[in-house]
Amino acid sequence: MYKVGIAGAGAMGGRIGVSIKEAGYDVTLIDNWEEHVNRINAQGMEVQTETDTYTVEIPAVLSKDVNEQFDLIVILTKSMQSEAMLEHLQSIGCIHDETAILSMMNGLGHEERLSKFVPMSQIYLAVTMWTAGLRGPGQLLLEGNGTIDLQRADGEKDARTDFILNVLNEAGLHAQISEDVFKSIWSKATLNSVLNPLCTILDKTIYEFGSYPESRQMIVPLIEEIVTVAKAKGVELDSAELLNKIEAAYPKETQGLHYPSMHQDYNNGRLTEIDYLNGQVAAYGQALNVPTPLNTMITHLIHQLEMKIQ
Ligand code: NAD
Repeated sequence: MYKVGIAGAGAMGGRIGVSIKEAGYDVTLIDNWEEHVNRINAQGMEVQTETDTYTVEIPAVLSKDVNEQFDLIVILTKSMQSEAMLEHLQSIGCIHDETAILSMMNGLGHEERLSKFVPMSQIYLAVTMWTAGLRGPGQLLLEGNGTIDLQRADGEKDARTDFILNVLNEAGLHAQISEDVFKSIWSKATLNSVLNPLCTILDKTIYEFGSYPESRQMIVPLIEEIVTVAKAKGVELDSAELLNKIEAAYPKETQGLHYPSMHQDYNNGRLTEIDYLNGQVAAYGQALNVPTPLNTMITHLIHQLEMKIQ
């Protein structure tokens, strides 16, 4: 039977894992949070939606205890945990010659890191508009609707792409093949590189940030810097479109009342994904000789904040 491992089964990994399991696939959640794994195995994964609360029986295992191989590994750790997770899974033989690795993590450069473990032809990159939360260990909060855009990391199509697409769609996850997943990845990373760190540094909701009359003066140069680095990487972004998308998040009726996930991570005493957002933009800029003073400064500001929680 086709075996799916969800490596990093927090909020988002929980959502994807439970959905694929409910579609009838053999799914194992792999995680390092002992309390979470124990509760899922003892009581099932509790799922709360807008209308319902129910339990899904799904096996969970600590990564040190995994003892099977997977045909598909969906990697949904936080970005900074992905290499350690995959290094471990590879060292204990969970990755075979044909294992596909599908990343739905936010941030940039995942294909470069994942290619240490399998060839590019076995790496799939996805951008998802689904969201997910955890109310506690083994307790998922699944609201709203979403989509997944995916593509093989080398841009080629193959039968495995269609197979993975089919698995995700049988799971009701509204997946489609992207013709240019890097454009989607960079677009989402731009939104995240603007609102996540700025709301975290300023301790503001998205609405509060957008209420500042000069917020455009803060974000337009930042967007431009990211768009210039993306162009140097061969990805064409539209600055005006990105600005519109960011400003569309300001109203209270859209995402305005929320604090971005980086703010939540920081306030829960957890490290952020800054090195995979602004930090990765700055690293690419340095490698390609594109100045990135704003992204560099923002990365340092978040690192300074993170020093307070370490
Ligand atoms: P998460 O924090 O819920 O889970 C990531 C890892 O942290 C998991 O291994 C989880 O078990 C562990 N973890 C979570 N809470 C913990 C706690 N209290 N104690 C110990 N360990 C804990 O992260 P996520 O939101 O699922 O994000 C995973 C990836 O997906 C990230 O790259 C994120 O940017 C991306 N993403 C998330 C969402 C979302 O709505 N959550 C949406 C799109 C993309």
